[in-house]
Amino acid sequence: MSTQKKILFLTHVGNMGGAEAKMISLAKSVLNNSEICMFQNGELKDTLQKAGLKYSVLEMPSSITSFKREQGLLSALKMIPGMFGFIRMLSRKSRDFDVIVCMSQKSFVFSALAKPITRKPIVWFMNDLITKEHFSSSLIKFLTTLSRFTANHVVLNSQASQKAWLDAGGKKENIHVLYSGVDTDNFEKEIQNHQEIKAIKARYVKDGSPLIGIFGRISNWKGQDIFLQALSRIDNVHGIVVGGAQFGEKDYEKELHKLTAELGIDNRVTFVGHSNEIPKLMAACDVITHCSTSPEPFGRVIVEAMLAKTPVIASDAGGAQEIIEHGDSGYLFPMGNSDKLVEYINICLTKDKKEKETQIKKGNLRAKKHFSSEIMLEKFLKIIQTSS
Ligand code: UDP
Repeated sequence: MSTQKKILFLTHVGNMGGAEAKMISLAKSVLNNSEICMFQNGELKDTLQKAGLKYSVLEMPSSITSFKREQGLLSALKMIPGMFGFIRMLSRKSRDFDVIVCMSQKSFVFSALAKPITRKPIVWFMNDLITKEHFSSSLIKFLTTLSRFTANHVVLNSQASQKAWLDAGGKKENIHVLYSGVDTDNFEKEIQNHQEIKAIKARYVKDGSPLIGIFGRISNWKGQDIFLQALSRIDNVHGIVVGGAQFGEKDYEKELHKLTAELGIDNRVTFVGHSNEIPKLMAACDVITHCSTSPEPFGRVIVEAMLAKTPVIASDAGGAQEIIEHGDSGYLFPMGNSDKLVEYINICLTKDKKEKETQIKKGNLRAKKHFSSEIMLEKFLKIIQTSS
């Protein structure tokens, strides 16, 4: 299935996250009919360029950039003066496209406000759990009401996100669950060269001891602190923290460095920063942990760990529960409980070789069967066909 419709993908961020990885897969599938428009400059631009994707940057005024979703509607009102000019620019940009696909909340809000001018159908990828833990009540009301009038389709990234959406009073019609699919063939290719993977592991571990990893943005709810706590209680293992700190999270990154020193593990933990070689780094690990302290809307890195054929342990909440079958294709530990995390890391490290291989195989097959980019693309194109 393909589409002749011209699609404009919008994201307000300039860095790589789960939503952007998904957007790249989707845009590649409609390469000649699409453009990605970012509302901020950032390293995502290089990734898009390398992928051969058409892109542009429409910079948001700083009053809008600094707004955080927890701040509520009153703070949102401060954005109004800068908004008008931006909406005008966005309307002009949208003119040449048939469908607007919004990958973030801010990009959805602006497209929705521009809709009386553009009259273009909107597909909104709502990639978060819309709960009071993450959003103010007024913002929940605003988003659910706005989408009722302007979004032709709302796409949620897990059953957990869909449940939160419905519980929050979001519209019931034209909603879909689309898991963030990974290009499984490409992932497999990336991890073929065992010598290369060995060399990558040797960057961090010189004595052959196990390497434990955590992957994802550095953010206070992604639980890198839980990872460090757990690591400090297991002798003779090394850890890598992979991912960059975005705007507003630099203080948390500093706290993590301080914690590493306080725990006395700074000689066996490396902060890798943002990486563009995720599959290889994951394959170099002996165990991958995912430690979010608030339910993860989906958790693409968990699927990637399964594709990298590395045992994975994740917090028992949100989308992770849809990816891992506990004890079968990985492990789920009570959110925030570093003692339990230690227990499961030890289980993974001491497991009988055959049992370990069986679990890895189950995880790998599960990732390929349910979370591939092919499945996501097929569903996406059906949604695009019915957007007019
Ligand atoms: N990622 C990356 N480089 C990094 C850290 C993460 O490319 O240094 C990618 C990772 O491989 C995954 C995505 O960013 O595809 C994160 O997605 P996830 O759903 O786990 O988290 P989100 O950032 O959306 O909360």
